[in-house]
Order: sequence, then C-alpha cells, then structure tokens
Amino acid sequence: MTEDEKKDAIDRLETRYTEEYGKKTTVDGIPAKEGVLFGYALNIQKCIGCRRCVHACVKENNQSRHHPDGEATEIQWIRVIRMEKGNFSESDMDKGYPRDYGVQVGGNAHKPAGVVLEGQHYYEPEKVPEKEAFYFPMQCMHCEKPPCVKVCPVRTTYRDPDGIVVIDYNWCIGCRMCMGVCPYWARRFNWGEPNLPKEDMNPKTHYLGNRPRMKGVVEKCTFCLQRTRRGRYTACVEVCPVGARKFGNLLDPNSEVRKILDKKKVFRIRADLNTYPKFFYFID
Ligand code: SF4
Ligand code: SF4
Repeated sequence: MTEDEKKDAIDRLETRYTEEYGKKTTVDGIPAKEGVLFGYALNIQKCIGCRRCVHACVKENNQSRHHPDGEATEIQWIRVIRMEKGNFSESDMDKGYPRDYGVQVGGNAHKPAGVVLEGQHYYEPEKVPEKEAFYFPMQCMHCEKPPCVKVCPVRTTYRDPDGIVVIDYNWCIGCRMCMGVCPYWARRFNWGEPNLPKEDMNPKTHYLGNRPRMKGVVEKCTFCLQRTRRGRYTACVEVCPVGARKFGNLLDPNSEVRKILDKKKVFRIRADLNTYPKFFYFID
C-alpha cells in the first residue's frame, strides 16, 4: 500500500467507527520507532493475583464483553494462573502420585499428566493474596522468533521492527494456525460478532492494535502499541497496584527493564522452544 492508500483506509475506518459507536474515534497508524525493542518484565514474587491487569486490558483494548444472553463471552488477553506454593524436586516425584501417570508438576496434582499441569485459571477467593498460593500472569510474549508468524498462510501477523508481533485484522482469514502453534496460549478467536457496547468503547485506537475487531479474526496482546509507541506505559503496567509489571526499551541500557535483566534473577517460560520471548519473569 502507498502512504496515500494507507491514509485513505484509516480515514474510512475513522468515519465508520465514529458513526457506529457515536463518538469521535481516531485510528492511529504510528509505526515502530528506530532504536526501540520493547520488552516486559514481571516480578513473580510481587503479583497478588488481583487481576486488575486483566480488566484494565479488556477496557483499554476494546475486547468483546460478556453478553447476558450468551451471545458473546468476554475475551481476555491476559491470564493470571493460581499456583500452589511449594517446592518441586525429583525426589518428590513419586510421592503422592498414583503410579504410571508420568511426570507430574504443579503442587498436589492427583490426576493423569496433562490434566492439572496448568494450575488454576479460575479462582474466586474472598480476598487475595491467598496464603498458600502464588500467581502467574501470562500474555503474548512477543517472541523474537514467533512460530505464529511462521505459520500464517496470508502473512497477516508479523513482527514489527520494535519487536511487537501484530495482526492486520482485515487480512486474517480465521484459519487459527497461529493459535495452534503458540506455546503460550496467547491468542484468542472471535467465534461470534464481538460485543463492544458503545459506552465502553475506547475511541483512541491503533490500526494494528485496539480498533474494533470482527467475527472470524484472531487477536492478542499488542503491548498496547497505541500507547507505548507514543511514550506511555501499557494499561496493565499502569494499573498494577503492587508494581509487579515493568516495561521498556531493551536497547536502552538505562531503561528499567534492562536494569532488571542485568541485576535480577530472570527467567523465561519454555525457553527450550527457542521462541526467545521478550516477556521476562523475575524475582528480587
Ligand atoms: S494487577 Fe499486578 S498484582 Fe494484580 S494480578 Fe495483575 S500483575 Fe498481579
Ligand atoms: S506468545 Fe504466541 S502469539 Fe505471542 S509472539 Fe509468541 S507465539 Fe506468537
């Protein structure tokens, strides 16, 4: 597309969304800046499992909301998994587990491997944090070698130069190949028409980010590029009450995220898969 064609497309979308949602809507097209590679770091010791990040993300990024008649369910890009506290060692592997169930991880797992490995996605305690639990938030890792990009048959999902893995919703054919290969279960599919009430719609959107989606397309976390490419933090970083979430430019040696990588104990999940996530977990 030429620059003029891009501008025309954005103008058309702005007019359409403004009419549809009854509020002045902007569709930003700001590209990646040179010298920037975005990265994220999450302090796993600090997270209290409150899920404020989940809800702030839904609001900021115009995800589909639950419909009381069951016509739509809420789409959430962030998951917070409740894990049982405790240590796991090789010598514990035979204790408490029925034989022939294979290697078990994840605390008191009493079911065959594969059933309870993932911790609890749904937890509703009276208050958090709970004494016996810790919490593990997950979202798109913006892999440096993203398998989702590799498999997309129409190349509508790709890695931008600032490291953000984006999706052009207009070209997505809904084949869901990317969902199948993502090892982090980061992508969501719009099985039906999304339910985005007019009053809840965030009118500050980006073409590759939080503009309203349609039935039959895939979506996921975009590191809030409508904010971060304009020098702001992501919504989840801003809302976290305990400061567990950090974000910044990995190429800047003075950024908070780089200092964390230099000084803290850091790990990435499923590093063995060579996806090179730019979402790091750390402990103090
Ligand atoms: S907002 Fe912060 S403390 Fe709450 S669940 Fe998210 S990361 Fe954890
Ligand atoms: S976490 Fe999944 S969706 Fe995100 S870049 Fe990696 S493979 Fe793609």
